Amino acid sequence: MTDTSADLVILGGGSGGYACAFRAAELGLSVVLIEKDKLGGTCLHRGCIPTKALLHAAEVADSAREGDQFGVKSSLEGIDMAGVNSYKDGIVGNLYKGLQGLAKAHKVTMVEGSGSLVDANTVEVDGTRYTGKNVLLATGSYSKSLPGLELGGRVITSEQALNLDHVPDKVVVLGGGVIGVEFASVWRSFGAEVTIVEALPHLVPNEDEFASKRLERSFRKRGITFKTGVKFTGVEQSESGVSVSLENGEQHDADLLLVAVGRGPNTAGYGYEEAGVQLDRGFVRTDERLRTGVPGVYAVGDIVPGLQLAHRGFQQGIFVAEEIAGLNPQVIDESGIPRVTYSHPEVASVGLTESAAKEQYGSVQTFTYDLAGNGKSQILKTSGAVKLVRAEDGPVVGLHLIGDRVGELIGEAQLIYNWEALPEDVAPLVHAHPTQTEALGEAHLALAGKPLHVHG
Ligand SMILES: Cc1cc2nc3c(=O)[nH]c(=O)nc-3n(C[C@H](O)[C@H](O)[C@H](O)COP(=O)(O)OP(=O)(O)OC[C@H]3O[C@@H](n4cnc5c(N)ncnc54)[C@H](O)[C@@H]3O)c2cc1C
Repeated sequence: MTDTSADLVILGGGSGGYACAFRAAELGLSVVLIEKDKLGGTCLHRGCIPTKALLHAAEVADSAREGDQFGVKSSLEGIDMAGVNSYKDGIVGNLYKGLQGLAKAHKVTMVEGSGSLVDANTVEVDGTRYTGKNVLLATGSYSKSLPGLELGGRVITSEQALNLDHVPDKVVVLGGGVIGVEFASVWRSFGAEVTIVEALPHLVPNEDEFASKRLERSFRKRGITFKTGVKFTGVEQSESGVSVSLENGEQHDADLLLVAVGRGPNTAGYGYEEAGVQLDRGFVRTDERLRTGVPGVYAVGDIVPGLQLAHRGFQQGIFVAEEIAGLNPQVIDESGIPRVTYSHPEVASVGLTESAAKEQYGSVQTFTYDLAGNGKSQILKTSGAVKLVRAEDGPVVGLHLIGDRVGELIGEAQLIYNWEALPEDVAPLVHAHPTQTEALGEAHLALAGKPLHVHG
């Protein structure tokens, strides 16, 4: 049995694991990174990047179909999924190459294989033991199903949905969260009939209700059907399709059922509990400094309860590297992590919803600026709005946006939230005209008591 030792041994090379590896290497630590599949993990190979490529292709399809409204004669001839997939896979391939180059440049020792935690300092891969002064668990997540709902055949998860070689005629999407809504949006743009089933009362139920309602309005206009507040009871599949039953007695026939009911932590079978790491419904319990109860063992990313987002994983990975290096980094404010749903239209938010802010601060002020008053949004022909939530006479504690391309505005929105800016701090800052960022500026002007392009 060989033995390799390092300052840090990392289990899992996804967003959380590789960010930690790179930062630790920058800080002069020796790093072993164990990955059983591909460096880059879910986000690069099965998540953020390929889905956003599909969504961009979907936008191109919509533009071709709707050129007339801009006086451009165009029509959508069809979707060539082989072409779409090769565009998508090309992007993933390039980024993967880049990432492998970065790992090399950082002199991270890459180990291929499935690792298990043996004790606080040891991870074993195929009989080889890797000892670390510190160990990071970053094994990510998998697509969950519901009890009794078997995956397979025409009942698929996002992994299969990303690699379809055709556009289905009819799809039922189970789950109206981010992943379900994004696929529904893509397939509708590609010409499919789509029905979303969501047990909670709204689509994107974690968002401020204002955004959910506006998204529902837009989806209705686009001909996306959704059944909210109703539970799925079962699915039957045949050679030619699926038949999905709902609690209210409805039955929906389709070619495929996409199960998008959330992601479970990938923590079973890797020796975590045996080594003393405490799990809570499969998630790794950590304190705010991402320490598990076992000295020197940290956890980041989707296995830690909270938002399952790549940029959270990056930030947590950087945090752990800096913590180990003794830099005493600032604890990450989970509410300050921006969230974007990249559907048509997009939904983006940071901070608290109005109801959460009321619970926390008692009294709040809100202002909603409609994109009808924003020149660039009119040019793009997108409807939507920006809603601000401010603690009574205090800082802006929630920013909620909906509309095409508003995901790009979240950069400024997260600065406003994380810097605890007052509307009066933002009001004098100048936004370029005509851009959609002006909508953020206008909303802050209004909350600061000096509205510019606001009716009524
Ligand atoms: C369809 C979809 C779309 C998404 N879109 C977005 C988005 O737009 N924006 C966003 O921020 N997030 C998005 N996400 C979420 C994002 O992908 C995850 O939050 C992120 O990948 C989590 O990073 P992680 O490091 O915790 O885990 P992962 O990226 O899952 O990486 C874990 C890695 O560990 C490896 N591993 C697991 N067990 C072992 C073991 N025992 N030994 C060795 N290696 C192991 C796995 O092979 C994997 O590579 C999306 C997810 C999905 C599924």
